Parts: sequence; C-alpha cells; structure tokens
Amino acid sequence: PPRVRFCPSPTGNPHVGLVRTALFNWAFARHHQGTLVFRIEDTDAARDSEESYEQLLDSMRWLGLDWDEGPEVGGPHAPYRQSQRMDLYKDVAAKLLDGGYAYPCYCTTEELDTRRDAARAAGRPSGYDGHCRELSDERKAAYEAEGRTSIVRFRMPDEAITFTDLVRGEITVQPENVPDYGIVRANGAPLYTLVNPVDDALMEITHVLRGEDLLSSTPRQIALYRALIELGVAKEIPAFGHLPYVMGEGNKKLSKRDPQASLNLYRERGFLPEGLLNYLSLLGWSIAEDRDIFTRDELVAAFDIADVNANPARFDLKKCEHINAEHLRAMDVKAFTEACGPWLKAPFAPWAPEAFDAEQFAEIAPHAQTRVTVLSDITANVDFLFLDEPVEDEASWNKAMKEGSDALLVTARAELLAAEWNAEALKAAVLAAGEQHGLKLGKAQAPVRVAVTGRTVGLPLFESLEILGREKTIARIDAALA
Ligand code: GLU
Repeated sequence: PPRVRFCPSPTGNPHVGLVRTALFNWAFARHHQGTLVFRIEDTDAARDSEESYEQLLDSMRWLGLDWDEGPEVGGPHAPYRQSQRMDLYKDVAAKLLDGGYAYPCYCTTEELDTRRDAARAAGRPSGYDGHCRELSDERKAAYEAEGRTSIVRFRMPDEAITFTDLVRGEITVQPENVPDYGIVRANGAPLYTLVNPVDDALMEITHVLRGEDLLSSTPRQIALYRALIELGVAKEIPAFGHLPYVMGEGNKKLSKRDPQASLNLYRERGFLPEGLLNYLSLLGWSIAEDRDIFTRDELVAAFDIADVNANPARFDLKKCEHINAEHLRAMDVKAFTEACGPWLKAPFAPWAPEAFDAEQFAEIAPHAQTRVTVLSDITANVDFLFLDEPVEDEASWNKAMKEGSDALLVTARAELLAAEWNAEALKAAVLAAGEQHGLKLGKAQAPVRVAVTGRTVGLPLFESLEILGREKTIARIDAALA
C-alpha cells in the first residue's frame, strides 16, 4: 500500500493551496488504504513558529483529515519534526561527501554573483558553473588556510533526467538546466533540498503529491535519490505528481497572503468542513462531469490521481459558497441547530447572553437551514428574536417605509391582533390589511417585516412572527408607528 506525506513548513496561517495538497494526499491514502505521514518541515528557525505549528494541527483536525504517522500520533519513523532530526541529516550529508556525490564548495557569494552576471551577459547558462567540482586536496587546504568556509554542494549527473509525472506525464530536464546545488549551509545547517528527499527516503514515501511550484526541484531530488539508493539510504524513487496552481481574482495565482486564501477566514464565516473539503477537492479534480456535491466518503471512494488535471484551477468563491449551502441543507436539523452554536453567542451575537432562548431557536432553525449559505449568516437572520428592539438599519427602513406605510401598519396591527397566532392566519391577516389599501402581499408585508425585524430581507415572515409571539410583534409595530 502507498505511503504519502503532507509536509508543510510551519510559517504563517494555513491557506487554501496547502489544504488542497493535504486533502489530495489524504484522499489518495484513504482510497488506496495507504498511510498518510504528516511531517513538519521546521528547519527554518527564523520563519517557523510554534503558533503556526499548532494551527496546522488544528486545521487538519477541523477538516477531519486524519494522519497515520506524525505529530502526536507518533509512528515508526519518529520524530516527525525535522528540527528534531538534525543528526540524521548530518549523517547522510557525510555519506554523500564521502561517496563523492557531493563536494565542499568554497565560492563566496560575491564570486558566484560576478560569474553569474558574466555568464548571463555572454548568453551562457547562469546556474552554478561547477567551479569547486574537482578541487584537489591542496586547493581545498589552501582555501581553508585563507579562512574560507564551505557549503556542501550536490553533484548533478551530466545527463538528462526523465520521470513520469502522475499528473503531467513524461518530463525530461536537460543537465544544463539543473546545476549542482547546495544541500548544507556553511554553518552546518542542512537545507530543504537535502532534508525533504532524505526524509521521504527514510520514511519510505512511495508517492510525492505536491504543488506545481515544486516541480522544478524534482529532477534534483531524483538525482539525490539515486545517490541515496547507491548509499543504501533509500530503497526506491517515489512517484511524483504535481498538483495544478490555484488561481484567484483576476486570474492571478492565489498567493498565501491573499485574504481569500486564508483557511481561518472560511472557518470564521462558518463553512462546514465537509462543504469546504468538497469544494477544495474540485480544484484540479472532478468526481463526474455533471456532479459537484458529494460527501467525504464519496470523495475517498472516487479519488484517482490520474483524474487530476494539469491546467490551473480557478478558485470560485460563489461556487464554494453554493456547495457549502448544499451541505448545510443536507444536514439533519438537529446537527444544523448544534452547528450554529458558536454564532449564537459572543463575539458574534449582538444580544445579551441571557436573552438567547434555545427553544425559540430550535423553532426557527429549520427555516434558516434552507436559506443560509454559511453558518455565520444565522446571526443576522435570528437577531430579531433575541434583541430587545430590532436592529436599526436605515437603508432597510427607507426602502420599506413609504408614504401610506403608517396607515397600512395601523390596519395590519388591528388584523394581526385579531388573528389566531399561527403563520397561516398571520399571512391572511396581512393579506387582508393589504387589500384594504390596494396592496399586494409583497408590498404589504415589507413595512411589517422592517417594523418587526429591522430588515427588508430575512426568514419567512409569518413563521418568524409566529415564533416571536403576539405581544412582541404588536409592541414593535407600535414602536414603528410612534
Ligand atoms: N515544506 C515544503 C513546503 O511547504 C514541502 C514541499 C514538498 O511537498 O516536497 O513547500
């Protein structure tokens, strides 16, 4: 069974691109009954943070993306944080040096820059020129005597590298496009270029599924893998699949810093994990041509990396919202009622905590469930029930309260007061009031709605009035008339 990995660096907030990568790895692992390894690539102390690490774990849990090996669950290849694996990398770097697969490079940054600029000017390839590839022991000693420090540089083979990308098909890269590259800094710190494939090898990863931005590092990693196999560190080269870019507004690549990319934003707006996962899985994949709503289990059953499209995927917020709404509709009403919980209290709810009435909310919830797009929509839709007075919204008021509205409200008040207190009778009452003023139901109910709820749009009015009760409804109409 396959072993895949999700290996983010703990920098910043989790974003859409990262989650899509995690999701595809998870779906692949679950579909094939394989293993998902969660590894933390925290070798950049300057940028990594503990807060970001906690957020990554929390986000994975919120989304329901469980891992089989990794932080907190452990596993046979522990530890799963690279900052705790430094000795392993040192050991491999030493083996690569000993075997001649890598060499110390004494070039200074200035020297590298000067030679690169000269190569560019002459129209030659501008990558590392192999200056330190074949230094004699005397030369090395002389450099060291000069006080130069060295990085460790991996020796790329002088031949083309070909691999079959699971998404893009066969890819061949010529040697002049992949110069020798650094794997250990002068201060001894191993670089991503080393630690990422070394861990993939040690953790026996069989499939590397990751973003297209990492495609250019694959030929280097394959060459390093070949060396690791010869050294007995790796068993076999994994298969690679590069997931398409996600495009945001204006058809530009969705960047991590784009507010639309932040996972926390979707959580705060009250997307369901199931809804968000459903949508994110469509960024580069599809379940069927005529279908875009499905459950987590259906995703797992259908997921096939061969169906991932190489073309950039467009992030479409409207579609994401639509899909979330469908998942809200599909919940059982009790689960929906419970899921609204956070948006019915501080910091979201504008009413006093003791004003909230769970029974009243349970009555209105089914009407809300068919109308909200995200859970946070619930707050404004039900605030009329729990506020002492409806919200003051001038725009709504101006829109609904026209000449003659007062007269209509007076009639409506009388009809409502005389009516039996159920939605059907209340509708008949407002209809009758409207008839007396030559108004259709739509026009007649608008001032009533604004007087009672403060807004021009909301949940079905007569059900809302029924739940609010006679006393409060009449008092609000009186207040509007005052
Ligand atoms: N830590 C790397 C990143 O977040 C992972 C790259 C990979 O998947 O190989 O970009």
